Amino acid sequence: MQCIDAVVAGAGIWGCTVARRLAEAGKRVLVVDRRPVVGGNVRCETDAETGIEIHLYGSHIFHTHIPEVWDFVNRFVKFNGYQHKVLARYRGKTYFLPLGLALLNKFFGVELTPGEVAEFMKDEAHSSAVFDAFFRGYTSKQWGRAPEEIDPSIIKRVPVRSNYDTNYFNDYNQGIPLTGYNSLFDRLLDHPSISVKLSCELRLDAGVFKIGGDVLPAVPVYYSGPLDALFGYRFGHLPWRSLRFETEWMDVPDYQGTSVVNYTEAEVPYTRIHEFKHYHPENRSVMEARRTVVMREYPCDWKPGDEPYYPIDCEESRALLARYREAAAGVSGLVVGGRLGGYRYFDMDRSVEAALTLPL
Ligand SMILES: Cc1cc2nc3c(=O)[nH]c(=O)nc-3n(C[C@H](O)[C@H](O)[C@H](O)COP(=O)(O)OP(=O)(O)OC[C@H]3O[C@@H](n4cnc5c(N)ncnc54)[C@H](O)[C@@H]3O)c2cc1C
Repeated sequence: MQCIDAVVAGAGIWGCTVARRLAEAGKRVLVVDRRPVVGGNVRCETDAETGIEIHLYGSHIFHTHIPEVWDFVNRFVKFNGYQHKVLARYRGKTYFLPLGLALLNKFFGVELTPGEVAEFMKDEAHSSAVFDAFFRGYTSKQWGRAPEEIDPSIIKRVPVRSNYDTNYFNDYNQGIPLTGYNSLFDRLLDHPSISVKLSCELRLDAGVFKIGGDVLPAVPVYYSGPLDALFGYRFGHLPWRSLRFETEWMDVPDYQGTSVVNYTEAEVPYTRIHEFKHYHPENRSVMEARRTVVMREYPCDWKPGDEPYYPIDCEESRALLARYREAAAGVSGLVVGGRLGGYRYFDMDRSVEAALTLPL
């Protein structure tokens, strides 16, 4: 194994940001990933025929209000200014999310003004109707529970906008890299002090770090894989919710007129349809291509070997996590991070922030 000062296991956005920081601090870094490509769950593939950028693990929109994060990613790629909107399809009609004046006025056939929204939603009949249409079925599919088990008090925690702002995120800085997400990862790793090995896994074998059959020298290891996997699941599996994606090429230039539509009824088996060409409105040849690519998203139970997507927060998983964290604290030189290592949902900007503020 060549001379290295640190190993980063996991070439997702957390790992690549850590690797870049280490390299810029003068360290020689080896980045390994068990997959054959870099980018983790932000990985995309460009459709050869249409040029459409397909987000392989579900739609990813970069959005942040953290200036340091925005400045950092903009060193490597420029963003196209795409502003994310999400529509909801319920009983054959289409509504603008989030919950605000556009949705309420269409759903109830009223003409509320901003000053009337709060009072209107205090009425139990209105809040229950909104909950049943837009939240109950969707949440039950997302978490694999019967609609009756979904707690109606959720609606009290859903922010209601008293305006026509249909921007899905509140963050001022938003967009998709003009040159595609993969270019962000290629450029993060493009540094003379970074070497990359793909299709190879970091393992902890009787207290010794190994990559393939090779024992690692005693250098810090920054690990963003699943914590339970690192310890051979010795205390049991941390539970996850998974997703299954079905991609379809369609012979129409535009299928749904927008990037994401949520299907909120419990009876429709998928939660969302993504149509990727809409993420690049600046790219005329993509927008005008005669075909389009859509992806249906089906939430599903997770079993060992499946792709982990959403951690399941419950008493049992918290207790397991505490045991694994204690085990990790006992391994010298090990730093754990990222969504898998942290067993937490992080947006990309939070992953970058965590990597930028990590003491090296
Ligand atoms: C459905 C979905 C949609 C999302 N949409 C958005 C969005 O629109 N905007 C947003 O900001 N965020 C979004 N996110 C969150 C985003 O995906 C995460 O913030 C991001 O992927 C976290 O990066 P990471 O590096 O922590 O993990 P990952 O991207 O999962 O990378 C971890 C890497 O570690 C590798 N690895 C695992 N074990 C090992 C091992 N032992 N040795 C070597 N390599 C290993 C894996 O192969 C993987 O490449 C979404 C998440 C989901 C689930």
